[in-house]
Amino acid sequence: MVKICCIGAGYVGGPTMAVIAFKCPNIEVVVVDISVPRIDAWNSDHLPIYEPGLDDVVKKCRGKNLFFSTDVEKHVCEADIVFVSVNTPTKTQGLGAGKAADLTYWESAARMIADVSKSDKIVVEKSTVPVKTAEAIEKILMHNSKGINFQILSNPEFLAEGTAIEDLFKPDRVLIGGRETPEGAKAVEALKNVYAHWVPVEQIICTNLWSAELSKLAANAFLAQRISSVNAMSALCEATGADVTQVSYAVGKDTRIGPKFLNASVGFGGSCFQKDILNLVYICECNGLPEVANYWKQVIKINDYQKNRFVNRVVSSMFNTVSGKKIAVLGFAFKKDTGDTRETPAIDVCKGLLGDKAKIDIYDPQVSKDQIQRDLTMKKFDWDHPMHLQPSSPTSMNKVNVVLDAYEAAKDAHGICILTEWDEFKALDYKKIYGNMQKPAFLFDGRNVIDADKMREIGFIVYAIGKPLDQ
Ligand code: NAD
Repeated sequence: MVKICCIGAGYVGGPTMAVIAFKCPNIEVVVVDISVPRIDAWNSDHLPIYEPGLDDVVKKCRGKNLFFSTDVEKHVCEADIVFVSVNTPTKTQGLGAGKAADLTYWESAARMIADVSKSDKIVVEKSTVPVKTAEAIEKILMHNSKGINFQILSNPEFLAEGTAIEDLFKPDRVLIGGRETPEGAKAVEALKNVYAHWVPVEQIICTNLWSAELSKLAANAFLAQRISSVNAMSALCEATGADVTQVSYAVGKDTRIGPKFLNASVGFGGSCFQKDILNLVYICECNGLPEVANYWKQVIKINDYQKNRFVNRVVSSMFNTVSGKKIAVLGFAFKKDTGDTRETPAIDVCKGLLGDKAKIDIYDPQVSKDQIQRDLTMKKFDWDHPMHLQPSSPTSMNKVNVVLDAYEAAKDAHGICILTEWDEFKALDYKKIYGNMQKPAFLFDGRNVIDADKMREIGFIVYAIGKPLDQ
C-alpha cells in the first residue's frame, strides 16, 4: 500500500488529502500538523474549516485510510510521498519584508523530513512558493540526507475556498513539475498515478519544476488582475452612468475573454491573492524587472482603492459623517461558503467606518465573534512602507457588536453594508428590515447581490458597486 503523509492540515492540506483518500482506497493518507487543536478538530464532528461537502468526504474515509495526527515525525518517516502544505505568508521583517514569501515553515518542514527519513521519498510542494524554491529545498534535503534519495516535485493547488471539494473532484487541471532526469520522471509518474485514480490523464499537465512553481503565482495574479480590472471599470461606470453588470456581460461574451470572474465588488480578499502578487513583485524586482513588478503591484493598489472608495461612498452618502450612526455589516468572510476571514475586505471596511466613529453590528453565518474580534483588533501591516513598520492603531471594540442574524444587525440601523455574497442575504425580508431601520435607510451593496430597483421601491437609498447612483 502506498503511504502518503501531508504536513499541514489547513485549508489546502485537509480537503486535498481527504479527496485523495476518498478517491484512492488503496492509499493510506495521514495528515499531520503541529497544531493540537487543529488535529483534534479534524478528528471530531466539528471540522476546523467550513467547506461544502467536506464533512461527508471526511466521514467516509476517516479511520479507514484517512488519519489526522500530531505525530509528525513518525508519519513522515513511514511515508513514500510527503506533501508539504504549510503556510507561506508574506515576510513581515528583514530582507524582502512586505513582499517576499516567508519560507520558515517550509524550511523547518524540509529539515525535519531530512532528519527523520530512513527511506527514499518523493517530497511534493503543495504550498504556493516562489519560483526556484525547489532548488533551496533540494539543497536542505541533500545536505542532510544521510544517503537517502529525495525527489522534489511541484504540485501547486488550484482549489478555491467555498468550492474546494467540487474543485478537487473535477479539477480544470492537475499540474506536476519535476526534474528532467530519469529519477525526476519516475517521481512525476508516481504522483500522476495517484491523481489518475479520478482525473483524466489529459488533464494532468507535466512541466519542469520552475514552470509549475511560477504557474501557480501567475494563475493567482491573473485571477486577481481580472477582479481589479472590473473594479477599476466600476469606478468609471459610476462616473459616467454606465452599469458595470451590463459592461461585464458584454465584455465577457467575447469568447477570448469569457464571463467568469468579472463581478465587480468591494474588493478581493483571502489568504492568497495579495500575498502571491507581492511575492511575484518581489521576484520580479530581484530579477531586475522593476517595470513588470510595478505592473503587478497596481493590481493590489486598485484593490485597496476599491475598499477605500466603498468606505468613502458610505460616509459621503450618509451626509458626510457616520459618527454615532449604526451600520449593519452583513457578511465578514472574504467570500461566501467559507468561514475564512484572512485579508477579507470587511476588515478594512469596518475599520474605515469605525475610523469615522460609526457603531457597527456584524452578522456572518460562518464567522465567530472571537474571530471578528481578533481580525478587527489585529494591527495592520503597512505593505507600502514595510521598513517603517508602522501598523495602524488597533480598533477599539466597544463600538462593535457581533450578532446572530441579519435582522438583529439591521434593527435601528441607519445603513446596511453587504460585504459577502452569502445566498441568504438575497432572501431576506427587506421590507421588514426597512421597517425597523432609521430613515432615510441606506443600503450599500458591496457584492451586487440584491435587486437595487426593488430596494428603491421599498424606500431604501441604494448604492451598488459600478451602478448608476441615486440622486
Ligand atoms: P493554513 O494556514 O490553513 O494551514 C497550514 C498549516 O500548516 C497550519 O495548520 C500549520 O499549523 C501547519 N504547519 C506549519 N508548519 C508546520 C510544520 N513544520 N509541521 C506541521 N505542520 C505545520 O494554510 P492553507 O490555507 O492551507 O495554505 C497552505 C498553502 O497552500 C499556502 O502556501 C497557500 O498559499 C497555498 N494555497 C492556499 C489556498 C487556499 O485557498 N487557502 C489555495 C491554494 C494554495
